Amino acid sequence: MNRRLVAHVMVMLISFMIGGFIAKQLNSNEAKTAMKGKAFSTTCAGFNKFASDVQWMLFINYAGSIKSVNKETSPVICKKLRAIIANDPSFFKAYEIGALMLSVEEPEKALEILEIGFNDKGLSSNWKIPFYAGYVLTHHFPDKETSKTLSRAEKYLKVAVSRSAGTERHVMSQLIYVKAKERKNDGSYTFSKKVVIPVTSDKQARIIALFDEWQDTQKRSSMLGSAPAPIYSSIGSENFNTLNYEEMILSLMQSAKQSESENKDVIDTISLVRSEMFKGRHLCDKCIFSFGPGEKFCSSCGATVQIYGLCPKCSLVVKGRFCSNCGTDAIPPKKMEQAEHK
Ligand SMILES: [Zn+2]
Ligand SMILES: [Zn+2]
Repeated sequence: MNRRLVAHVMVMLISFMIGGFIAKQLNSNEAKTAMKGKAFSTTCAGFNKFASDVQWMLFINYAGSIKSVNKETSPVICKKLRAIIANDPSFFKAYEIGALMLSVEEPEKALEILEIGFNDKGLSSNWKIPFYAGYVLTHHFPDKETSKTLSRAEKYLKVAVSRSAGTERHVMSQLIYVKAKERKNDGSYTFSKKVVIPVTSDKQARIIALFDEWQDTQKRSSMLGSAPAPIYSSIGSENFNTLNYEEMILSLMQSAKQSESENKDVIDTISLVRSEMFKGRHLCDKCIFSFGPGEKFCSSCGATVQIYGLCPKCSLVVKGRFCSNCGTDAIPPKKMEQAEHK
């Protein structure tokens, strides 16, 4: 028998017990101070961290020893994870592993654990936790298709998009996926000027979801000057513009126009989105592809398009304000004002 190893294990166990005891004491103190709205005492925080590290090692050991997550093992997993989080609420890995291990068998429990991390101040810029929460809700909850669950997921995903400052594409597409399902459940969508359009296809629902999100960003960016937006944090809000809503929605509309041209609701949606989002853009009526100045036919589908960008005097394509062929001012003052206000 290796005596040194035994002694080593004994020391580990004793320090773990002491750590656990102190942690327990601290936790009740933390709860009290938190109730009064005071900051946590940090004098003994090292012990909490130590306890959670030991617990984490034991957890990894346990996780490696079980064959599967089932009705027997999941309560143990939950208990162990909760103990780790109680000692170190900002320990991101515990939430991540918890969500991954529990989401299939115990989605509710997985969400409960994620919810703790979601509300933790130390993790307030972490986008993965709200993303996992939204994902668990929409992929593993038994009632994942209901409007109630979808709107819960939307709440988390909006925060995830905000915290990632719109740089994570898959977070955004998850939000659009959820919003589209919600619009489909609603059965209709109200555009501005109170135009109500029935939502009857999945592609149409996605177009509407993107449009709705784009409108939100428009509102947000106009609010940014005065006061910070309510749900979205100010972290990198300007980066939202890097998400190219126009291009995303345009390719969706092009494909919907091709595959669902007999669906009146789809066509109505496309023309409403076009009129609100693509006012200044020259798009082919038949296939929604852009066309350039002077072009008579759409290069994508061959349909006749309304020519623009010609010199009013010599009818050559103008490249700038003045015609390079005859020197005519191609943008008279009145038109220029409109262009500036575009
Ligand atoms: Zn075309
Ligand atoms: Zn000219």
